[in-house]
Amino acid sequence: MNSPPQADPAPPVFRGCTLLLQDLRNQVDLAPPLPGVYIFHGDRSDLPLYIGKSINLRARLLSHLRNRDEARMLAQTRRIEIIRTAGDIGALLLEAQLVKLRQPVFNQRLRRNRQLCSLRLHDGKPEVVAAAHVDFATTPDLYGLFASRHAALEALRDTADAHHLCWGALGLERLTRGRPCFRSMIGRCAGVCRGGESINQHQKRLASALTAMRITCWPYPGAIALVEQCVDMRQMHVIRNWCYLGSCRTVRQAAKLSQVASGFDVDGYKILAGPIMARETAIIQLS
Ligand SMILES: [Zn+2]
Repeated sequence: MNSPPQADPAPPVFRGCTLLLQDLRNQVDLAPPLPGVYIFHGDRSDLPLYIGKSINLRARLLSHLRNRDEARMLAQTRRIEIIRTAGDIGALLLEAQLVKLRQPVFNQRLRRNRQLCSLRLHDGKPEVVAAAHVDFATTPDLYGLFASRHAALEALRDTADAHHLCWGALGLERLTRGRPCFRSMIGRCAGVCRGGESINQHQKRLASALTAMRITCWPYPGAIALVEQCVDMRQMHVIRNWCYLGSCRTVRQAAKLSQVASGFDVDGYKILAGPIMARETAIIQLS
């Protein structure tokens, strides 16, 4: 008598993945529905796979588990580490700091301050300046933050195009004496190069075109503590010159953190300029 065909057991690889996913799901269930940063760890504890942040850690982690595009990362994940913060600002600051420090495998493009550039108006003419030579936290009249000199010049060309500014007058194109710029011949320059407007008018239009990109100087004489609070936690984030120095619970600890040397930080600026200038959160001046 023939015995009925038996169902093939699931291949070991498939079973392994299912078990791992179940294990991750159990870890996610333990995550609180509160703000913080999470780290996906693989086999090597010194090299995290991915670092992210959320105001609702559990919901964000669940969305990772449901995302088919992240299967490769999830298959390598062995452990999820969670670091609570008191709010969104703290989570953003810590995420940026950890991504820079730990360089996770699956986080896209890491920002590096080394080549950071901006545009400065010098005698009405724009020039590219580098964060390596100019303090972006305290120098007035800087416009835009760019990953490279090339990106800064590209942005200047785009601004010129959008406002019919003259590439010749901006130093982007060499002018032949007595001849207008190439773009004025195709109607892309308002014509300062052929007397169509005064140099003064052109400079005013340039300054106004760049206004939206203006970098805000650090508005305090020294370090501050930005206070953030949620249902179960209160934190002080210590910042100087748009640079995040760390978080703590007391003014005494904050004063100690504020002793750390700091220079302009592009992530800190992008995260903090809005909330600090809008005075959305309580701020304590530390020095
Ligand atoms: Zn022109």
